[in-house]
Amino acid sequence: MLLTTIAGSLPKPSWLAKPRVLWAPWNLSGPALAEGKRDAVLVALGEQEAAGIDIVSDGEQSRQHFVHGFLEAIDGVDFTRRVTIGIRADRYKAEVPTVTGPLARRRSVHADEVAFARAHTTKKLKFTVPGPMTIVDTLADEHYRDRRRLAMEFARVINEEARELAALGLDVLQLDEPAFNVYMDEVRTWGIEALHRAIDGLSCKTAVHICYGYGIKANTDWKATLGSEWRQYEQTFPALAASRIDQISVECANSRVPVSLLGLLRGKDVLVGAVDVATDAVETPAEVAATIRRALPYVPPERLYPCTNCGMVPLDRAVARGKLRALVEGTALVRRELGVT
Ligand code: ZN
Repeated sequence: MLLTTIAGSLPKPSWLAKPRVLWAPWNLSGPALAEGKRDAVLVALGEQEAAGIDIVSDGEQSRQHFVHGFLEAIDGVDFTRRVTIGIRADRYKAEVPTVTGPLARRRSVHADEVAFARAHTTKKLKFTVPGPMTIVDTLADEHYRDRRRLAMEFARVINEEARELAALGLDVLQLDEPAFNVYMDEVRTWGIEALHRAIDGLSCKTAVHICYGYGIKANTDWKATLGSEWRQYEQTFPALAASRIDQISVECANSRVPVSLLGLLRGKDVLVGAVDVATDAVETPAEVAATIRRALPYVPPERLYPCTNCGMVPLDRAVARGKLRALVEGTALVRRELGVT
């Protein structure tokens, strides 16, 4: 009950990539990079275990970008055709590759990483891949020229990958869909359908992470325009509650999301973001506990998983470590109140 987990990413060690930079280039190359990534996964697992996190991830140590890392093994995506486009309804500019032909998974993308992480922790293991709508929103398309059709093709490719990863002993496969907070109409018309195709036949639990983004300026500026109450979730939670996804990961710490909206996810596991990733201020356990307590009237404790709001990759490592500890200690306070050990 009240099992802790993280949204996915952790900061990378400085020998692997420049700290405090989103999408930082690697500091190593060739075999040294491969070795460095594996070493970083051991560090990420160790830090989560030391903090007492119950369901750990590989910290996304092996990918530079949470979307493009997945695309590097997909035929039909041309990384030599990079263009700069506005993404997330033009919230910020990103340099993205172009879809120029039919999509096909050339090889397994993450199997080695999952097998390595699985072999080095006895904790429950979660792994994240980008969701179809967020992928579609993070590249240019000159082939399918239809967002829904392109999403369904990506969902097919994700499903091939996901089945392989689940067979390696994953406990949770999470699809990251920050785009679900931007294109709420499309979530209902094809976003959930694409998720269903992506998780079809999976043997492990499935999760979808829907956030307001990393703590970068474009996102904090955008949040400032969203008014006193952020009600984006209100439009998508009923559809998610009716979906076949097991777990929904949401942003609650320091957020203007009305916590009562969590009640719309009845019947689902809810990963309650109780750690803010947009500030270097490390939460006190009491602050984490307060966020969890606010959610408890709407999410029963056996379905509530204290989590981070989003990935922590752009944070200072000491800050991230502090936030992991605060998450665990704050959860322990609430567990004691509920009489759970
Ligand atoms: Zn996020």
